[in-house]
Amino acid sequence: MTQQGILIVLSGPSGTGKGTICKELLRSHPELHYSISATTRSPRQGEVDGINYWFMSHGEFQSMVAEDQLLEWAEVYGNYYGTPRRYVMELLEAGKDVILEIDTQGAMQVKHKFPEGIFIYIIPPSLDELAERIYKRGTETPDAIRKRLSNVTAELSCAHEYHYVVVNDEVPRAVHTVESIITAEKCRIERN
Ligand code: 5GP
Repeated sequence: MTQQGILIVLSGPSGTGKGTICKELLRSHPELHYSISATTRSPRQGEVDGINYWFMSHGEFQSMVAEDQLLEWAEVYGNYYGTPRRYVMELLEAGKDVILEIDTQGAMQVKHKFPEGIFIYIIPPSLDELAERIYKRGTETPDAIRKRLSNVTAELSCAHEYHYVVVNDEVPRAVHTVESIITAEKCRIERN
């Protein structure tokens, strides 16, 4: 019988660099599969449907919710985001490892369903650094930046719900730490 794959969940406040860490991990580990989320958010410049997200209308998203097609979903900064269930389940059942980059509300729903998953929380070295990264990224309006920053404290208070906390002071080091966590977890004999 094929062993079920491992579900890896990465979360962290906006601007913490979890997206960059995730990209680096996927680049050097083609055996990891990224779950593309559905969202009602508009695409940012350079974002492509089916690569960064499945971009959709509120109506389409609501239909996915009604048809129970999402493993988890949440409203984040006024937009809806969710993980399409089928892709994740098919990969896990085929013994493949899947990585989700989702917010804490979604991560807690997934933890409830998959307590054996690996839940990793990425934090910035400091709040000042986080604010600077969000401003420098330049993808958000001033109002969206304010929303993201005001949510950081609530986001950080969820860190203790995760199995691991990784400080992203330097991307290569944070990526290496996450790789080590995954390697160790794959060697573990007993899972929850
Ligand atoms: P962004 O708009 O910056 O791409 O993402 C905003 C937040 O939504 C981030 O914290 C990101 O991790 C989270 N997010 C992305 N996809 C999903 C998803 O499928 N489910 C949930 N719950 N959050 C998501």
